[in-house]
Amino acid sequence: MLRTCELRHPKLTVMVRQSELFLPLRREDPRGEEFANAKLLLRGGYIDKLSSGVFTMLPLGFMVLRRIEQIVREGMERLHAQEFSMPALQTPAIWEETGRWATLPPEMFQFSDRSDRPVGLAMTHEEVIFDLVRRTVRSAHELPISLYQFQTKFRDEPRPKSGLIRGREFLMKDLYSFHASPEDLETYYRAVMDEYRTIFAQCGLEAIVVEASGGIFTKNPSHEFQIIASSGEDRIILCERGDFAQNSEIASAASPCPKCGGALREERSVEVGNTFRFYDKYANDMRGYVQGASGEKLPILLASYGIGIGRLMATIVEARHDEKGIVWPDRVAPFAVHLLVLGSHEGLFREAERLGNALQDKGIAVLYDDRVNVSAGEKLATADLLGMPQRVVVSSKTFASGKAELKRRDESEARLVATQEIIEIILLTTNTNHTNIRIAPSV
Ligand SMILES: [Zn+2]
Repeated sequence: MLRTCELRHPKLTVMVRQSELFLPLRREDPRGEEFANAKLLLRGGYIDKLSSGVFTMLPLGFMVLRRIEQIVREGMERLHAQEFSMPALQTPAIWEETGRWATLPPEMFQFSDRSDRPVGLAMTHEEVIFDLVRRTVRSAHELPISLYQFQTKFRDEPRPKSGLIRGREFLMKDLYSFHASPEDLETYYRAVMDEYRTIFAQCGLEAIVVEASGGIFTKNPSHEFQIIASSGEDRIILCERGDFAQNSEIASAASPCPKCGGALREERSVEVGNTFRFYDKYANDMRGYVQGASGEKLPILLASYGIGIGRLMATIVEARHDEKGIVWPDRVAPFAVHLLVLGSHEGLFREAERLGNALQDKGIAVLYDDRVNVSAGEKLATADLLGMPQRVVVSSKTFASGKAELKRRDESEARLVATQEIIEIILLTTNTNHTNIRIAPSV
């Protein structure tokens, strides 16, 4: 049983004892995994692999997922979008109105129920939500509407091999906005794009907004949010001066930047988000209209916006790791501080616990490595692998001088600091929002 302080502390911040956390660590790289996110998340006990492209989120990984979800949710709230949830299980009728029941396979899982009726698992929800809105909204006055969900989606990938970047079952945030005029859609679309940049920045990533083709959906260019990573499977062309970026699928062969004439370079990248302007495509396909102010019939205009939550978690690891392990950004890390006791003397544990409780009282989430019979080297290596932003070490050496050793995961030098000062430094240097959500694994 994990000892948490949820009842005593309205802030819901906890100190979790590592000895009580379900954390199956591995010493070796898992076989057959090439991607850093798969290797490090599996070794660090964040995730477990059930089968190709299908993963269990272990308690530590689930905390990361919920932190990312919270960052995204706050962004959606700033856009005045309302959270709801649609079913994954689908029957063909509405999908046949847009022709996608036939075109989405083989990616879309489709099969038969016990009565031999066709059913499928949704990988996107435009049809479902458009059907909902056309049946319930009558007047242009009721628009705009924006709704979003976090949902597990399914995609029948032929050879998923990139860890959480491309799974067969994965968590997505999908947002849909409905408008009565193209101007209104365009304004909201731009606001979502700005919010996406903020969300990715809060996740410690610099997203490059890339124009892409609308695919089979629409002739209006869509936008992708790409993160440069050498392991990425996308390729983007971008200007050195930062004023132009395009998916190499649609980039022309011309070598200078079309905006400024500067040199272009190609980078590998991972797509973490996308935005589509469908305008009246769904209104035409599915006959969805509202009544305008003078009684005229107006098409219901649609845009949709996705962020892959699990993929975002994986991309953070791809972009932010070193040879020793993960380097979580403050807002995504499951714990702000990893507190380690090196040694077996009882006084060390008492001192560490006192320090951990003091941090917790200040609203800082602490993972406390209280394990006994584990070598100092192994504890330090585990801390590097897990990648919490701040590491605090209590050992016989530090204890004797009334100090503890403090080190940021993204810095190489540790320093000896008086314990009271440690709390102040951590409060000052942790850009954390660990207090506003419940992060303890429920027990
Ligand atoms: Zn340029």
